Amino acid sequence: MTVPDVRRVAVLGAGNMGHGIAEVAAMAGYDVTMRDVEEGIVEDGYDDIEWSLEKLAEKDRLNESVEEILGRIDTTTDLESAVEDADLVIEAAPERMDLKKDIFGDLDELAPDDAILASNTSSLSITEMAEATSRPEQVVGMHFFNPPVKMDLVEVVYGQRTSDETAETAYEFVESLGKTPIYVRKDVNGFVVNTVLGPFTDEPAWMVSNGEATVREADAAMVHRRGYPMGPFELADLTGIDVGYHVRKEAGRPIPPITEEKVENDELGRKTGKGFYDYEDGDGADYEPGDGEAFDTLRVEARMVNEAASLVGDDVATPEEIDTGVRLGLGFPEGICRRADKLGLDTVLDELRTLHEETGDDRFEPDDYLVELVEDGRTGEEAGEGFHEYDESGGASAGPGDYRLLNYDLSDEGLLEVELDRPERMNALSTDLLGEIDDLLSSVDADDVRCVTFEGAGDRAFSAGADVGEFGDLDPTDAMDVTPAFETVNDFERPVIAKVDGYCLGAGLELALACDLRIATVNAEFGSPEIGLGLVPGGGGTQRLLRLLGETRAKELVFRGNRIDAERAEEWGLVNRAVPAEEFDEVVSEFVEDVVEGPPIALKVAKKLMNEGADASLDAALAMESQGFGLLMSTDDVREGTAAFRDDRDPEFRGE
Ligand code: NAD
Repeated sequence: MTVPDVRRVAVLGAGNMGHGIAEVAAMAGYDVTMRDVEEGIVEDGYDDIEWSLEKLAEKDRLNESVEEILGRIDTTTDLESAVEDADLVIEAAPERMDLKKDIFGDLDELAPDDAILASNTSSLSITEMAEATSRPEQVVGMHFFNPPVKMDLVEVVYGQRTSDETAETAYEFVESLGKTPIYVRKDVNGFVVNTVLGPFTDEPAWMVSNGEATVREADAAMVHRRGYPMGPFELADLTGIDVGYHVRKEAGRPIPPITEEKVENDELGRKTGKGFYDYEDGDGADYEPGDGEAFDTLRVEARMVNEAASLVGDDVATPEEIDTGVRLGLGFPEGICRRADKLGLDTVLDELRTLHEETGDDRFEPDDYLVELVEDGRTGEEAGEGFHEYDESGGASAGPGDYRLLNYDLSDEGLLEVELDRPERMNALSTDLLGEIDDLLSSVDADDVRCVTFEGAGDRAFSAGADVGEFGDLDPTDAMDVTPAFETVNDFERPVIAKVDGYCLGAGLELALACDLRIATVNAEFGSPEIGLGLVPGGGGTQRLLRLLGETRAKELVFRGNRIDAERAEEWGLVNRAVPAEEFDEVVSEFVEDVVEGPPIALKVAKKLMNEGADASLDAALAMESQGFGLLMSTDDVREGTAAFRDDRDPEFRGE
């Protein structure tokens, strides 16, 4: 749904970001004009949009045709005609303050008086751009991440004089694009996400410069021990070592010698073939899991936590916003404030103080807010409160109502909808997320529930598998335990339905197999890729696939590790239905309705009989069935069911 105050959007710049922003705005139903300085550049941008939309259409990710969406996009090189009817202008021109000020000065003259003027800058001051206009209260930052079509996060940045009304409209606009906004309440350099990211690359660069660590040690440790999606040096090579260098230089921050040296030698990363790793004559980022054992990860994380503390203490953002920002914007395995609460804020503060004393360097100076939290005894999860609050059980998951990695909703009718909420990691099943699933289904009152559905957040995956980043930390004896979450799902007393869109792989497939029914979109892909890691499915995959598909097909999936599409999955009986995306919700509702309105006790008995019967001899299973049948005969539901049948009306089962 579009925002009422915004109908027409003008995007200035058809480059990397501009064309992506124009695309997502048009996909959400807005009329868009995309402007760049030369005809050829605008055309290239338009072609890029067309290419991207066609890819999305191939994957069945669009609700309408490519032509319909393209029909909402105009292109021009003329600024005046681009913005004269615009309700919202989003500037995505090169990152230079002089240029941005010129553009905002022109916009002030040419855009309607009530139009909102937004900038997609990643590092420049919104306040300064706003000063080039006579309406600074209508100027706001709207920081999309690259590429806008894929990245879910947008930072909505207040300049000094931005009005709440403007920021709120920008926030709602971002939501209407199907993306997640976070407020950045002050115009600080780096906003929220890049502020926290700063030390992630900066501190390892100092450590390597000082001879305290190696590039491979740092990358291996941060990825394999701490679960970050990329190592700091690998990331710097990907984004360009010069990019971080210029940002630091402009902010007046000291630059680690190793970074300086790389820029001087024009070894800027992947784009020049060589950076911290060699991509032409070498093997690129070739660190190994065991390389990082000796690396001091706390030193890096303590500095990130210190930045987060300063953002909270200065009222720039809340811990929740920071955590959402780093998870969606950077793919961090968990929010930095959550991680800090787990580490213990006193431990973090001690690390900073020790390093500050040893080196005398300002970058370790503890932030006042962090000191205040520790002095107040709010030292994190164990204390019951840190950046976040925890209940008595102290865990991240503390009974229904307090989960971090999943969302759930229990309706009055008894439908418990569970969403795995790690879209930035394709809903990978980490130990914590599995713990939360287990906790939710173990602690919810089954009498209040008639049906459970599981789905994945975002549009890419139900769940793409286990969190491989955790494997390095897993003790083999822990790994040998049966995954309790899957057994809890399998044994839950009510029917459980997996709603599968996108990837359903490895542990994700095992979760779906633990459910009773599986409904998929035609975009879904299924597979057990564990064999490719030198493993076997360890959460019931080998056994449940065998029982469900038979030996021939189950062995094909497990041995080859290949993926199969939804159509084949339906043919094989792995899913109950495979339907086009636009019919998915309707088909799921039909299943859910039947189950929610069905007789709860009979459904419970049916599930138990069929689960247990599958493993028993036929005689034993038939005896169980007769007992179950007999038990049900004495329920009110049977009386209601037979009476309704006689009276030719719909039964109303009460589960009694
Ligand atoms: P880009 O160089 O790919 O595109 C910029 C485009 O703006 C170019 O096509 C250029 O011709 C055009 N342009 C120049 N002057 C213009 C004017 N007066 N009016 C309209 N267009 C004009 O750059 P980009 O990567 O798309 O970055 C654009 C902005 O987005 C920058 O402020 C950047 O900091 C920010 N940003 C970039 C990223 C990223 O990862 N690339 C991420 C978030 C934000």
